[in-house]
Amino acid sequence: MPIRQLPPELVNQIAAGEVIERPANVVKELVENALDAGANRIEVHSEGGGSQLLRITDDGAGITRDELSLALAAHATSKIASIDDLESVGTMGFRGEALASIASVSMLRLRSRRHDADEAWVIEAEGGPAGEPQPASGPPGTSLEVRSLFFNVPARRKFLKTDPTEQARISEIVQTIAMANPGCAFTLRLGDRTTLDLPAVDDPRSRVVALLGKELSDELLEVDFEAAGATIWGLAGTPQIAGPTARRQRVFLNGRPIRDKAIQHALREAYRGLVVPGRHPTVVLFIELDPRLVDVNVSPTKSEVRFRDGGAIHQAVRHALKDTLRKHDLVPTLDLDRSGADPSTGSFGTASPRGGSGGGEGSRGPVREFGSGMPSPGFEYQAMQSQLDQPVAPAETLMPSIRKDLRILQVHAKYLLVEDAEGLLVIDQHALHERVMFEQLKARIGEGDLERQQLLVPDVVEVDEAAIESLEGLAAMVAKIGFDARPIGPRAISLSAVPSFLLSRNVEPGEFLIEALAFGSEKGRVDDAEALLSEVLDMMACKAAVKAGDRLTQHELEALLAQRESIERATNCPHGRPTSLRIPISELDRRFGRSS
Ligand code: ADP
Ligand code: MG
Repeated sequence: MPIRQLPPELVNQIAAGEVIERPANVVKELVENALDAGANRIEVHSEGGGSQLLRITDDGAGITRDELSLALAAHATSKIASIDDLESVGTMGFRGEALASIASVSMLRLRSRRHDADEAWVIEAEGGPAGEPQPASGPPGTSLEVRSLFFNVPARRKFLKTDPTEQARISEIVQTIAMANPGCAFTLRLGDRTTLDLPAVDDPRSRVVALLGKELSDELLEVDFEAAGATIWGLAGTPQIAGPTARRQRVFLNGRPIRDKAIQHALREAYRGLVVPGRHPTVVLFIELDPRLVDVNVSPTKSEVRFRDGGAIHQAVRHALKDTLRKHDLVPTLDLDRSGADPSTGSFGTASPRGGSGGGEGSRGPVREFGSGMPSPGFEYQAMQSQLDQPVAPAETLMPSIRKDLRILQVHAKYLLVEDAEGLLVIDQHALHERVMFEQLKARIGEGDLERQQLLVPDVVEVDEAAIESLEGLAAMVAKIGFDARPIGPRAISLSAVPSFLLSRNVEPGEFLIEALAFGSEKGRVDDAEALLSEVLDMMACKAAVKAGDRLTQHELEALLAQRESIERATNCPHGRPTSLRIPISELDRRFGRSS
């Protein structure tokens, strides 16, 4: 084929491939246009999963008759005029591609009326250039109808999923955008069902709650944090409402929904040890940042961004969330009405936020140094250290204190019963002890390698070849936790020093090392080094902790409870399971007919 200049329609169709993959993308672009036009009310209507019909109607500024066809032209926009404008773009759109792309792959009808105009005008396009504007009737604002999406791109049509799936995606995108724009009313009609009807509200949090579900409102903690130029606010779910998918996790940057690996990582970090693996915390975060510190022009759909200082944002997000979580009493309440409750399925309620909640004085954490790097796949002990040198919040902001003048009851050699200010606490002795030792180990490793005990005669441990390989890859970590271990031959490791901690708790070091290496080789590929180290410390803590079945003396029980109050996050074991449950005194009163 000779080289030829492509006709504009074909150029648009190719460009459409990037922006418009499915009906939900059309909805996103059109709703964003409506917001850019200052709409206070946006109605979205979809038929047949969106490929039959999409209609987005707004009450925004409208488009003049003379600009209608320009609106559909490629690279035509009213939002930027020069490359400098891109530096501080405040609108959702700016590429001037969406309408041209959509027009090239659908039957489009654009009706609009400026607020100062007497009549509306309409233009139509069928997979190509638009016709002449025609007079029409209708209120001020804009209505865009997209019919037969991809009618001229069968390949694209084939990739569409079933109507319900496409509908779900449309619903998802409308909800996401609505979350960040509480001042605008939204309705969504799928076929003849109105599935979303959101009035405009003043308080951004009430919009988020309306979308997440009112029943969760007691489980949502306010996030409010500032650090070096970024404001981070929103709502963080208690560990109990972590879900099976990350669907209730949303991050907005300057009002734009984004997906960012580093931020997602920060989020997981903040909740590490509070939710069991495989559950995803509910978090809606709004990051406000000087637009000059971020490049939003990285991907055509603008869902990815590039931060000038990604490490700083990562750290700020992590601190914002940790701060919020630390300020609240996260002891789950035992809900006696629901039997067979399983903490990981969220069938526990949580004590309502207390203590330093609501941003009272002194409740905001210290603003940390801003600017160190992202955790790298290398061994980043500094990152862990910085986590450790955060002052632990005073115990009373963590949880109501336990009465110390009473005997602690050990039940079935597994659970401890004690009274606290709110009611009756039931504590899992193993989970709590594990958490306590985990925190101690973490604190110690922040100061250097764990203490080791030299062996007079090296211990030789028989292992498999995978363990040898794993030892090579994890040598730094193995040394860090107090082993001096060297491979001798293809199936044996010689131990000349072992962690004193393990010896003191009667854990066989050789066996522990074998398990840690097996775990490391399995996890090493997916987790970063910091996370892996944390998990290995947890293994140590778990092995060393008292077990269910261990009878404890009153003295030991007291020591364990005293430690509970001295550490952060005593409410969950490092795996995220709760260490304690509370039966509120009010619940007992109610049960015994004492409610006044
Ligand atoms: P962009 O949003 O990147 O500018 P689009 O192709 O989405 O590009 O839209 C082109 C132009 O059409 C916009 O810059 C705007 O001036 C106008 N426009 C599109 N939709 C609307 C609307 N709902 N209300 C008012 N003007 C609109
Ligand atoms: Mg646009």
